[in-house]
Amino acid sequence: MPNTPQEDQLAVTAFREISRRYADQFNMNSSVKGFCQSMITGTNVGIYVKFMDQQPFMTNFNIGGSQKLGSACAVCGFTAPKTGNKYDREMYINRQHANASTVIHEMLHFLTHPQFWMYMSPQITEAVTEYFTRKVIGKSKEASFDLSQRSGRYDLHHQYLGLGRADIKTRSTQGAVNPGKGYMKRAYFQGDQSAIAFIKKEFQTLEEMLGADPEEK
Ligand SMILES: [Zn+2]
Repeated sequence: MPNTPQEDQLAVTAFREISRRYADQFNMNSSVKGFCQSMITGTNVGIYVKFMDQQPFMTNFNIGGSQKLGSACAVCGFTAPKTGNKYDREMYINRQHANASTVIHEMLHFLTHPQFWMYMSPQITEAVTEYFTRKVIGKSKEASFDLSQRSGRYDLHHQYLGLGRADIKTRSTQGAVNPGKGYMKRAYFQGDQSAIAFIKKEFQTLEEMLGADPEEK
C-alpha cells in the first residue's frame, strides 16, 4: 500500500522541523535539492519516504546488502542508496514498528554527506544521527514529536557521544584541541574533511565501547 495522506504529511512535517534547525547546513546536491522540493511542496513524497507494512518492509531491507544505514534499528526504518548515484537515497519506514520520530532519524540519514557515510563506522554514524534527531525533536513544538519516542533507541550511542562532546569542549577550552565551530554539523551534513578526521580520531573510544556492547542490536 502506498503512503497515506497522513504519512506524507508526517514526512513533510518532519522535514520542516529538521530544516528549521539545519537547513543552512544542507549540502545541496541534486538529490538533496529534489528531496527538499518534494518535501516543501508535499508532492511525490513517496519517491523518497516509503511507509511499508512489515512484509514488504523486510523484503526491501533484505535487498541491497551492507550499504544501507540504520541496520541496527532496522525494525523501524532504514535508508538505502539507490543504484547509480551515491547521493540518491530512499527511506523506508516500517508501519508496524516506527513512530513519528523514526522519520526524523531516517531523514537525517538521507541528509548525511556521502563522505561522512563512507568514512565513519556505523556506530559513530548512528550516534551522530541520534544526536541530531534528539536536537530536532527537543526544539520542536510539533505535537507529533516527543523525546519519549526515542526512549530505548540508541540511548547508549547518544549518551557516549554526549560524554565525548563534553570532553572535547573541556579540552578545547584548555587549548588542547581545536575542532573549529560546529565541527559535528560540518562533518555530518557537509562532509568537511578536517572535521571528519577530527571526529574519527576523537571518537574512536566511543566506537570501541559501542562495538563491544553486547546489548547492541
Ligand atoms: Zn539510524
